[in-house]
Amino acid sequence: MYQIKAFLKQHPHWVYATLVVVPLLLLLGMQYQSLLRLKKTMPIAQKMWMKNCLYKIGTEVKDYLKTNAETALAIPAQPLAEGKYESIEEHFKTHNFRGVKHFFVARFQRESEPQLLVFDPEQKVLAPTCSEQSPSIASACAPWKLLSQEPNSNKQATLAVYESDPNNRILLNPILNQQNQVVGVAGLVLDTKFVVENLLPQYVQKVLPTFFTGDTISNVTVSVYSSCGTRVFSTQTGGQIQEDYLEMQMPFLLTDYKMGIRDCYQTPEQWATWNFVYMLSCSVAMTLMIIGGVGYALRAANREVRLSNMKTEFVANVSHELRTPLSSIRVFGEFMKLGRVKDQEKIREYGEFIETESQRLTQLINNILDFSKIESGRKTYRYAKADMEAIIAETIRMYDVRLKQQGFDLIYEHPTEPFPAVEIDRDAITQAFMNLLDNAVKYSGLAKEILIKLEHRDGHINLSVTDHGIGIPQTDQDKIFEKFYRVSTGMVHDVKGSGLGLSIVKHIVEAHHGKVMVESLPSQGSTFTIQLPIENTEQTV
Ligand code: ADP
Repeated sequence: MYQIKAFLKQHPHWVYATLVVVPLLLLLGMQYQSLLRLKKTMPIAQKMWMKNCLYKIGTEVKDYLKTNAETALAIPAQPLAEGKYESIEEHFKTHNFRGVKHFFVARFQRESEPQLLVFDPEQKVLAPTCSEQSPSIASACAPWKLLSQEPNSNKQATLAVYESDPNNRILLNPILNQQNQVVGVAGLVLDTKFVVENLLPQYVQKVLPTFFTGDTISNVTVSVYSSCGTRVFSTQTGGQIQEDYLEMQMPFLLTDYKMGIRDCYQTPEQWATWNFVYMLSCSVAMTLMIIGGVGYALRAANREVRLSNMKTEFVANVSHELRTPLSSIRVFGEFMKLGRVKDQEKIREYGEFIETESQRLTQLINNILDFSKIESGRKTYRYAKADMEAIIAETIRMYDVRLKQQGFDLIYEHPTEPFPAVEIDRDAITQAFMNLLDNAVKYSGLAKEILIKLEHRDGHINLSVTDHGIGIPQTDQDKIFEKFYRVSTGMVHDVKGSGLGLSIVKHIVEAHHGKVMVESLPSQGSTFTIQLPIENTEQTV
C-alpha cells in the first residue's frame, strides 16, 4: 500500500491519465451498447417511416379525388325532380376537375327505367347516352334504384365507390329529396390512366421530399403496380428495378393497385449496420483523439515539471560551481597578499591556480550568458574566415596548465596536411570546444587521458574529444543535448555542472550547419565529435 502511494506521488500523471481514460472507456462501452440497441430498432423505424410515406401518398390522392368528387356530385334534388338539366349541366361545368372521364346523373322514376344523362367534360353537354360505360353505370345505380322504391328509403348521402369494372371505376353520390328519400344519383367515371400516369407521380414528387432529404431522396424508389402486378409507374428511371421490400394497397380508389417502396442501395438492415459501424468508428476515433490529447498534455506537463526540477537543480549546481572556486581564489589571494608564501615555486603554483579557476568561472558565466541569449533568440554569430587548426592549438595551450595540474595526459592528433580556412564564428567554436574539453576533464574519473583529433574528411571538418571516463548510458545519449539535462545515475552525482554545456555546443554547431555526435560506453569513455561542413558555413542565427 505504501509502495503504491509512493508510486502515485512520484508519477501523478498516471493518476490523471487513469481518471480520464477509465471514464472515457466506460462511456465508449455505454455508447457501444446503445448503438447495438439502435441497430436493432433502426430497421423497424426505417420501415415505419417508409410505410408512412406510402400512406401519405395514398392519402393525398384520396383527399384530392374525394374532396373534389364530394363537391362536384352534390346535386340538389329539385332541378333533377323538375327535369331542369341546364342547371345540373352548369354545375358539372363549374365543378369539373382533372381525373374525371365523365359525370352522370340518374333520375329514378317509379315503374320505369332510370333516366341516365352523361356529361362529357370535353363537349361540356349533359345528354342521354348509350355509351360503353352505361352498363357499368347502370349496375352501380341499380342498388340505389331499388332503395328509391322502398317506402322508407331514408339514407345518408355518402360517397360510394364501385370498382368491379376496372375500366370504368365509378364514384357515386345519392341525391336525396327533402324527406331524405333517394330520388337519383350523381356520379363520375374515373380517368384511371390520368390518375396513374399524372396524379400519382405528382403526389409522389410532392410527398417524398417531406420524408427524405438530401442524398437519401435520390436513393428511394416508389413504384405503383396494377392489379395484375404490372409496374405502371416508378420513380426509378434507369437500371434494373429490384423488388420492393415494403408494399401497400391504394386506399379509397384503385384499391386493387399497390404502391411499393425501396432504397436502391441498401435494405433497412444494411443501412442500420452501416450506421452502427459509422457511429461506432466516430466514437472510437473521438475517444482515441481525447486519450491522445490527454496523453500529449500530460507528457508536456511532465516535461515542464522535469524542466522545473532541473532548473532548481541548476541554480544549486551553479551556486556551488561559483562559490567553490571563488573561495579558493580568495584564500590563495589572501595568502599572497599577506606575504605568507615565500617560495617562488608556490607563488607560481598559486598564481596558476587562480588563473585556471578564473578561466573556468569565465567559461561558466559565458555559458550562462550565452544560454540566456539563445533562449531569448538574441544569440548572433559573426562569421569570418579562420584557421581552425590555429584556434584548436591555441585553446589547448590555454588549457594545458590546468590539465597538467590535474595530472591529465593530453594527446593532440593534428592534421598532417594543410588545413582549409573555414567561415566560422571563432569565439563560438572555441567555446564549443572548451565545453567538450571541460566535460572530458570532469567526467574522466581516474583515467586521465584525453585525445583530441582534428581532421579534414569528405568535405567536413571533424573535431573530436575522447576521454576514457565514466561514459554515458545509451538511453541518455540523446537527452544530454537538452538544456539542464544531467545524467542522474552513476558517478555524475559527484561532479558539479550546470547542464548547459552540451545544449550550447549543439546550438553553436547547428548554427554552422554542422552536427555534434556522441559515441560512448559506460565505464569506458566517450567521444564527442563536432562535424562542420567546409562549404557554406557562413550563416547567421
Ligand atoms: P554539465 O554542466 O552537467 O556537464 P553538459 O550539458 O555539459 O552539462 O553535459 C550534460 C550531461 O552529459 C552531463 O551532466 C553528464 O552527465 C553528461 N556528459 C557530458 N559529457 C560527458 C562525458 N565526456 N563523459 C560522461 N558524461 C558526460
